[in-house]
Amino acid sequence: MIDTSPLMVSVSGVRGRVGHGLTPEVITHFAAAFGAYARRRGPGRTVVIGRDSRVSGPVFLRAATAGLLSVGCDVVDVGIAPTPTIQLSVEELQAAGGLAVTASHNPIEWNALKFIGPSGMFLDAEEGRAMRAFLDGEIPRATWDELGQWRADGGAGERHLQRILQIPFLDVAAIRARRFHVALDCVRGAGGTLFPRLLETLGCRVTAIHLETDGRFPREPEPVAENLGELEALVKQSGADVGFATDPDVDRLSLVSEQGRAIGEEYTLALAARLVLRHRRGALVTNLSTSRLLDDAAADAGVPLFRTAVGEINVARRMQAERASVGGEGNGGVILPDVHLTRDAPVAAALILQLLAETGQPLSELARQAGSYAIVKEKVARPAQPLDAVYDRLARELAAPAQDRQDGLRLDWPAQRRWAHLRPSGTEPIVRVIAEAPTAAEAHELVERLRAALPE
Ligand code: MG
Repeated sequence: MIDTSPLMVSVSGVRGRVGHGLTPEVITHFAAAFGAYARRRGPGRTVVIGRDSRVSGPVFLRAATAGLLSVGCDVVDVGIAPTPTIQLSVEELQAAGGLAVTASHNPIEWNALKFIGPSGMFLDAEEGRAMRAFLDGEIPRATWDELGQWRADGGAGERHLQRILQIPFLDVAAIRARRFHVALDCVRGAGGTLFPRLLETLGCRVTAIHLETDGRFPREPEPVAENLGELEALVKQSGADVGFATDPDVDRLSLVSEQGRAIGEEYTLALAARLVLRHRRGALVTNLSTSRLLDDAAADAGVPLFRTAVGEINVARRMQAERASVGGEGNGGVILPDVHLTRDAPVAAALILQLLAETGQPLSELARQAGSYAIVKEKVARPAQPLDAVYDRLARELAAPAQDRQDGLRLDWPAQRRWAHLRPSGTEPIVRVIAEAPTAAEAHELVERLRAALPE
């Protein structure tokens, strides 16, 4: 039996710390179960696999490959690649599924498997349950004459690049004509395989750091403002028009303005959405923890905004249902259905460059026009008892005109332009408490009110 107790298992993946529960045996087991599920589901029996640049990547990529081949899946290995590149390959090759060996923005000691369905989207709750049946039961292994075949595919990055260049409203000639100077920080993740090529194709002059794809992260890998000091300095020193920072698996993008200031990851989706809405009307979709900057973008364009439970797949499924124009998450994850229904940092970068080209305004000014809020994010230990009584009491005491219980409790005061969200984490024994308001004092006060309501 595999001991999964030190691991974090969710519907769309499994992650853990290398050597502390996360071993090749565990990864092979999960990959074999996923492969058996994918084969049963189809179409066909091909599974695409790829990884970010982590030091533990080669070990776990091979372990996962062995699991897939052992259940008779044919494996197409795209090597070191952004997660969105792997997802796009699943779609393009009409594969039965995909595996991304990546712990996304987690620190260097982590790694993980993420499960991708034939649509190129991560498994949702129902699909995850169907896969669990294989994980918990006997996995049907192939005999020698049924084992899968392996092949390498070096073309996934180029296909991804071409898809971005085909975004209908992306005016490649206009962007090229501006000869933007871009400062880039790929944190020695998988971004180095694609980002410089994309920017050069768009006519940019690139001043880059940390393009090496060796997984030796030189900073905390999450692309939040406090981790981007080096990129801020690079923008100032090089006089770049904009700075782009990604996480190791390249689904999140964070921006540094031409003034050398990291403007915060919430602005990536807000600005990308404003650009898309210049070209087409259609709903916006985001999660419950994302900034009000999105409400403002939707209101200015006269389109509805829908909010979902946290988790990329929840946003993506709702985008499908609403035929949304654009969506994503406030953590820098932009989803553009023209390319695919998944967060994609190279797509986000192309949209931001198009916005700069179209408006002729600097990024700092575009951010100023998009609005300004203070957002406070905290986490507290998760109490043992269910939180429904806490939600009831908070809703009563704080008397918010709107509340949402899809994912914890979100209280909203639209007229005061503030909201708060209390949510038990799906992957850690904590409760996340987030509030946003016009001033930091108001946001802190809201967070304190919510925290005080939680039992010790
Ligand atoms: Mg990521």
